[in-house]
Amino acid sequence: MRVYRGRFAPTPSGPLHFGSLIAALASYLDARRQQGHWLLRIEDIDPPRCPAGAADTILRQLEAFGLHWDGPVHWQHERGDAYREALSRLEAQGLAYPCSCSRKQWRDHPVYPGWCRTAPREPDKPLAWRLRCDLGPTPIIWQDRLFGLQRFDPSALGDVVLKRKDGLWAYQLAVVADDGDQGITDVVRGFDLLDNTPWQRQLQHALALPEPRYLHLPLILGDNGQKLSKQNLAPALPEQEDAVRPLLHRALVALDQAPPSALATEPVTAQLDWAVAHWSPRSLQATAERREPRHNAL
Ligand code: GLU
Repeated sequence: MRVYRGRFAPTPSGPLHFGSLIAALASYLDARRQQGHWLLRIEDIDPPRCPAGAADTILRQLEAFGLHWDGPVHWQHERGDAYREALSRLEAQGLAYPCSCSRKQWRDHPVYPGWCRTAPREPDKPLAWRLRCDLGPTPIIWQDRLFGLQRFDPSALGDVVLKRKDGLWAYQLAVVADDGDQGITDVVRGFDLLDNTPWQRQLQHALALPEPRYLHLPLILGDNGQKLSKQNLAPALPEQEDAVRPLLHRALVALDQAPPSALATEPVTAQLDWAVAHWSPRSLQATAERREPRHNAL
C-alpha cells in the first residue's frame, strides 16, 4: 500500500487568511484521515513578492490552528540546483527552449504562439525558458477527486514559462520538481489552481515523475462574493486561542463538514480530532457543483 504524502505549499506573500486556512485544513485532514504525512513547503521563489517575516508568521499561524506538519519545512529558495537540473533535462530532450518574446509582441494571440521554438528570435535580449506544449501527451486527462474527469487541449494552454527573463524560477517548474522530490502522492488545494494542473502534468510526464492524485476545493468567497485573497485584503488569521477556536470551526463549516456547534468553543486539538475522524471530501460535492458547474464532470 502506498503511503499517503500530502502537503501545504503557501507562497509567503503575506500572512495566511481564511481562504488559505481552508486549503491548509483540507489537505491536513485528508492526510491525517489516511494516516499519511503532511508536509509544509514555503514557496518563496519570488523574493520581491515575499515581505520579510511573512513566512515566520505563516508557521506561527499554522501552529496556532494545531496544523502541525511532519519533518522539516521545505524552502523553495534553497532548491535552485534542483530546478536547474530539471530544466536541463527538459532542454536535453528538446522540450524546453529559450524565448525572447515579450507579452506585447504576442498580445493578439490567445496564448504564446511558440515563435522561439527553434531558436530565440532576438537572442541578445533577456531570455525566458518555456516548455513545448506540442510534444507531450494530448489531450491531458486526469480524474479530479472532487471535480471528476478533467480534459485539456495542450495547444490551448500554450508553452508555459519555466524560468522568467529576470532569472527567477516559475511556479510550474518549482512545484513539479518539489512535489516529485518530496514524494507527494496527493495534492489538495484551491480550485484556482485547477487550470494550472495540466501544465504540471505535462512536466511530470516530461520529467518521468509519478503523477499525484488531485483534489481541488471549491473557492471560498468573501461576503462581497469575491475570492478571498491577499489582493482583496482578506484579514490575516489570528494567533490567539480565543479567536482561533471559532474560526477553525467556521473553516470546518465552510468545508461542508457539518461540525457540531458545541465544538466551536473546544480547543483546536479536540476540533481537529473530530474533523479527522469525520473527514468527508464528498460532502463538498454540492458546493463544488454550485460554484463551478462547468468543471464538474459528475
Ligand atoms: N504556492 C501556491 C499558492 O500559495 C500553492 C501551490 C500549490 O498548492 O500547488 O497559491
